[in-house]
Amino acid sequence: MLDTLSERLQQTFRRLGSTGRISEGDLDEALREVRIALLEADVNFKVVRDFIERVRERALGQEVLRSITPGQQVVGIVHQQLVEVLGGDREPLMHASEAPTTVMVVGAKGSGKTTLAGRLALRFKGEGRAPLLVATDFERVAASEQLRVLGEQIGVPVWVEEREAPAVEVARRAMQEAARTGANAIVIDTRGAVALDDELADELAAVADEVDPTEILIVVDAMTGQEAVTLAREFDEAIEGTGIVVTKVDSDTRGGAVLSVREVTGLPIKLITTGERLEALEDFHPDRFASRVLGMGDVVSLVEKAQQTMADRDIKDVAKRMRSGQFDLEDFRAQMQQVKQMGPVSGLLEMLPGGGNIAKQLGGADLDGSYFRQAEAIIYSMTPEERRNPDILNGSRRRRIARGSGTTPADVNRLLNQFKDAKKLMQAMTTGKGAGGLMRMLGL
Ligand code: GDP
Ligand code: MG
Repeated sequence: MLDTLSERLQQTFRRLGSTGRISEGDLDEALREVRIALLEADVNFKVVRDFIERVRERALGQEVLRSITPGQQVVGIVHQQLVEVLGGDREPLMHASEAPTTVMVVGAKGSGKTTLAGRLALRFKGEGRAPLLVATDFERVAASEQLRVLGEQIGVPVWVEEREAPAVEVARRAMQEAARTGANAIVIDTRGAVALDDELADELAAVADEVDPTEILIVVDAMTGQEAVTLAREFDEAIEGTGIVVTKVDSDTRGGAVLSVREVTGLPIKLITTGERLEALEDFHPDRFASRVLGMGDVVSLVEKAQQTMADRDIKDVAKRMRSGQFDLEDFRAQMQQVKQMGPVSGLLEMLPGGGNIAKQLGGADLDGSYFRQAEAIIYSMTPEERRNPDILNGSRRRRIARGSGTTPADVNRLLNQFKDAKKLMQAMTTGKGAGGLMRMLGL
């Protein structure tokens, strides 16, 4: 899937990439084509509108990196925005910490719910958990039979009741069975909808109330496109989902459902399925998927590298920026680099007003080696926007940066606090009494 979209985007950007500069006119024309490509891929029109808006804003606001062409830079921005539209960070499936993990699978008829239930049970079993599959769909005898066969195939017990009963009662008995047998990963398959009516909404809400699920996964069939996305939103409004699973991503779809569903529902895509085989269940990675859509992984990594090395503003610029209150993380990093070149710094830091505090805060860290390497790795893992404006770093962005730099969120927080202290210090130095002398001393 996605081949058409991907080809069209590549054509558009290739044209841009061959010119040395992009004018606003060139950019608008390229974005017009991106818009058409997305609409033809069946992406929700509001999502497309916002997407184009944001790319345009960023492209115009961003300084051009030295080592790449503006066209490549636009590809980088489009990629970043695709990642955002797809949810930013990966959101893994949640597990309950105490009670058994309970997953409810809901969605349209034929979207792949029952198959997904089997896939999840297989995954849980592989993780060393004890799964129990639960059938609550009495509409078709075949539905519970299908689940029973699946369970047999993967060696997982299935709770099926012969006589028709309200789904909530079946779920209650299944939970009792789980408690009795020690099952700790319960997957509840549910009746599907063509359109979500009140009866089904009530039925599902009652089950959710009864079992207090860790996850309510709303299944979206990629083949049905926007219709599936709209239905997913209705499900979410009725019973508050926790995540989306997009199925049949292997099929010949245009990709619109995957690219719209996060923005339309606000729910993270947690998993995708890519084939009929039970093993064809994948964690969803927004960045990998964005690269697949764009089909330009080489350009994207080139841009990322360029962003990392843009850091060569010299210290004089830094001083100027400090005075005008624009000191940002990129300057902080450049400045550390300078200090590093000046040799052992612990002593130097202590000479600065307030510097002793920073040294103390670092708690005897190896200031001259590993500390800098870690700080640099953290800053390199941020986007240019984040380096300019660290205030936008919320918890999930900080976690992503920690992962990207091989550090912990606590390390990231510490660095950000140090940056804040440094910024305050800089401001005091550049505006306060006696600052002039110190600045001269440092050759600024
Ligand atoms: P339910 O009605 O929502 O329970 O849907 P089912 O689980 O019964 O699946 C409906 C059909 O979709 C079955 O034929 C599945 O094999 C098929 N299916 C489910 N997931 C995928 C997928 O990721 N790729 C493909 N190609 N087929 C799938
Ligand atoms: Mg089913």
